[in-house]
Amino acid sequence: MNRTANGPRRKPAARLTDGGNHALNFINSCKKDRKGGFIDLLTNYFSLNSWAEQSKLIDWNTSLVLEHEAKCNPPEAELCYAVARGARNTLDELFNDLVAGREVHPLITTRFNDQYNNMRQHLRYQPGTDGQIRQYFFDMEENLNLPLYLIIAQAAHLLDTGLWRQIKKCPACGSLFMDTSRAHNRTWCSPKTCGSIKKSQRYYRLRKVA
Ligand SMILES: [Zn+2]
Repeated sequence: MNRTANGPRRKPAARLTDGGNHALNFINSCKKDRKGGFIDLLTNYFSLNSWAEQSKLIDWNTSLVLEHEAKCNPPEAELCYAVARGARNTLDELFNDLVAGREVHPLITTRFNDQYNNMRQHLRYQPGTDGQIRQYFFDMEENLNLPLYLIIAQAAHLLDTGLWRQIKKCPACGSLFMDTSRAHNRTWCSPKTCGSIKKSQRYYRLRKVA
């Protein structure tokens, strides 16, 4: 089945390691390459939207609606993308400081509070099908900021619950990930990528000495 309306499907998420949380995956969407430059997988609103769908932050129907909206409103899509990039820098600094045990700069907390307040304006308490009353995003189906607001909500959840203490930074690629292992002894973002690269480097070092 062809799931795209226009052209081949983009696959930015294929190069991403799952950090176990959408806010962390969002931060990891821009990382340093081996030459000291940056590889950014989100280069415009459309790649942001595609990433959000592929990393299961939003469903396919929502992503199609947002893609259509973005095509109808290019300046608005451009602005949403710029805001999302700024928010990613804020989240990057915030969580990297927390993980490293550094004091978070007041400017970063101010920026995060602004982003959180923007997101919160769109929440409403409503009864769900199970009779429970919870907060839901209200009237957001066609709002280009939906992926960003969902990310900010996840970041806030990490802070509110103290789950941020489970975040680790991969020593090979710098990605952030949740260490949910029972012994809390996970080192690499992925045993298949960074873990195996380091293992093979160790193997070749050992062979050289021998
Ligand atoms: Zn890694």
